[in-house]
Amino acid sequence: MSTIFSQIIEGEIPARIVYEDETTVAFLDANPLAPGHTLVVPRDEYERLNDVPDDVATDLYATIHRMVPAVEDAVDADATTVAFNNGEAAGQEVPHVHCHIVPRFEGDGGGPIHAVAGERPDLADDELDDIAADIESRA
Ligand code: 5GP
Repeated sequence: MSTIFSQIIEGEIPARIVYEDETTVAFLDANPLAPGHTLVVPRDEYERLNDVPDDVATDLYATIHRMVPAVEDAVDADATTVAFNNGEAAGQEVPHVHCHIVPRFEGDGGGPIHAVAGERPDLADDELDDIAADIESRA
């Protein structure tokens, strides 16, 4: 069973496609958070960011880089929030990697990306040191 985004890419269900190339496609979100809300996806299905092969990740970023100014200019946005819900616990509903490009406007009532997390942890310096060392060892 292919994802809804694969069905869009295959032309099986309609979408407002705004850009496509060999490895990536961009189309308007069907339930936009703002005018111009655009999704950028790899053509092939990968559920999470770390499933995407390096060469496709490079192409995906290139398309995001291309689409951000296109979207901003098209709707005269002041800024954009550019983000991935990476995994179900982060709110990902469609298991096909997709980047949200959400146009933002002065006074639009939205928040920064910091607003997405729950209660903030109160971490001591040694805990921060441990976490940093752990991440560094895996990078
Ligand atoms: P997620 O929560 O997985 O990060 O976001 C999925 C996004 O896909 C949502 O913003 C939702 O509005 C959008 N979406 C879901 N189904 C469709 C569809 O059939 N067509 C389009 N264009 N967007 C969709």
